[in-house]
Amino acid sequence: MMKKRLFTPGPISVPEEVLLEMAKPIIHHRTPEFLAIAEKVIENLKYFFQTENDVFIIAGSGTAAMEAAVVNTLLPGEKGIVISGGKFGERFVEILKAYGCVPIVIEPGWGNPVDIKLVEQTLRQNPDVRAFYATLVETSTATSFDIENLGKLVSGFPETIFIVDGISGLGAVECRTDQWNIDILVSGSQKALSLPPGLSFIAVSKKAWEKINTCRTPRYYLDLKKYKKAMEKFDFPFTMAVSLVCGLNKSLENIKQQGLENLWKVHKKRALAVRKAATAMGLEIFSKAPSDAVTAILLPQEIDGEKFCSDMRKEFGMSVAGGQDKLKGRVIRISHFGWQDDFDTISVVAGIEVMLNRYNFKVELGCGVREAMKILFST
Ligand code: PMP
Repeated sequence: MMKKRLFTPGPISVPEEVLLEMAKPIIHHRTPEFLAIAEKVIENLKYFFQTENDVFIIAGSGTAAMEAAVVNTLLPGEKGIVISGGKFGERFVEILKAYGCVPIVIEPGWGNPVDIKLVEQTLRQNPDVRAFYATLVETSTATSFDIENLGKLVSGFPETIFIVDGISGLGAVECRTDQWNIDILVSGSQKALSLPPGLSFIAVSKKAWEKINTCRTPRYYLDLKKYKKAMEKFDFPFTMAVSLVCGLNKSLENIKQQGLENLWKVHKKRALAVRKAATAMGLEIFSKAPSDAVTAILLPQEIDGEKFCSDMRKEFGMSVAGGQDKLKGRVIRISHFGWQDDFDTISVVAGIEVMLNRYNFKVELGCGVREAMKILFST
């Protein structure tokens, strides 16, 4: 049997101690035993989100929290500005449309940062905008957005709330919910939290609650008022995914022990190592504002990226992600989050070198590994 290594930008590998925590016998979700775990989890989630605001857990993948961010705050016919720099920015546009809301889309182009001046102009030209949507790390293009400065800007508009998709970025790159004026931040379990998919999270500011309390958009499972009421007792409105929450408890303990800033540093180092390695192999990084959560490497034109990824998986047991939509076949994407160590990073670089040679793109074996090792092990 081949050893499997996951480098996809979610789901990721889960540490054994977290897996074992989730394998424990199920406890009922309305017992004092479980509610005590939930209380601790919420406290540690606030640290993870860097917020004093409410944080809720939703049993559902990240998109559930994105949808909750929309249906609780925006009425059909109301306008929201969306920065759409890839597949997941597009998802906010689609959710707004699904509820009859009106998206005003800013498209910086895939892989490009957004022009803050243009954002300011768009906000000023549309005084009736009620929500502003951005993505911390756009996973489809492996691009980071300047959430801090966007937050500063949007906070000057008292009628507009700032909503951020931190699903693949949170925990991997710096993000400070309160300091950065983020009103709603959503995330998911299958990324930097090193858990299986299945949970999403949503942090909500006072400014956002003013909208939620009066918003009449129909909703039921995703009604945040229900979550807030239950949270008074650290409870949940619906049957919670108890095993995942027990795993989350362990993951958050680990993160707290390591320190969030150290976690950001680890991602920064591994991402830099992969970028340097790719350059040494003669490859280009796709993004103009590359993230430390995931890296997208442009493949030589003659290589079919889909086949390349499938061969990496079949022959080396290494799962790297291909491109989505217009990047299909053109890039490979490698995550830096989840249960990985520096030697895993070295292994994926080595795997890419070997596979490139098999595809007749000749690279000197070890040229990328050497650059990556210099970054990873120089101190
Ligand atoms: N936003 C971003 C930035 C993501 O990376 C993902 C998942 N890849 C999603 C949203 C959607 O999350 P999910 O698949 O968990 O619903």
